[in-house]
Amino acid sequence: SEKDAALAAAAAPVPSDSPTIFDKIINKEIPSNVVYEDDKVLAFRDINPQAPTHIVIIPKVKDGLSGLSKSEERHCEILGRLMYTAKLVAKQEGLDDGFRIVINDGPNGCQSVYHIHVHLLGGRQMNWPPG
Ligand code: C5P
Repeated sequence: SEKDAALAAAAAPVPSDSPTIFDKIINKEIPSNVVYEDDKVLAFRDINPQAPTHIVIIPKVKDGLSGLSKSEERHCEILGRLMYTAKLVAKQEGLDDGFRIVINDGPNGCQSVYHIHVHLLGGRQMNWPPG
């Protein structure tokens, strides 16, 4: 209905390049459960886990990467670093039977935080297709 559409539009975060809550996590202004950190990336446990292991991996410097759809050639190195970190953390978490990597993009992708991030999900059987 029109009302449902209005409610959904009100709930959906507006895509933007503004600072997000992830900047506060990077700056340790709000606490997070960090599982991996280096000079380029930070990985922490999702506060609303969708699997026994659910970790969010983000670049420490956003550099315009509010989402994958905003990526430019200059971002190739950090994009690769995010993927490689997912592999390192999966190993660290003992996800030896497999795992799922997700990047939500934009409203249709159900992105809620506009600072690019890779979800690492594991510890249970994943399903295909995803919801
Ligand atoms: O892909 P999407 O933008 O929806 O993912 C954002 C993720 O960040 C969510 O899974 C949410 O639970 C997580 N989050 C978090 N800690 C916060 C805010 C959001 O782990 N303080």
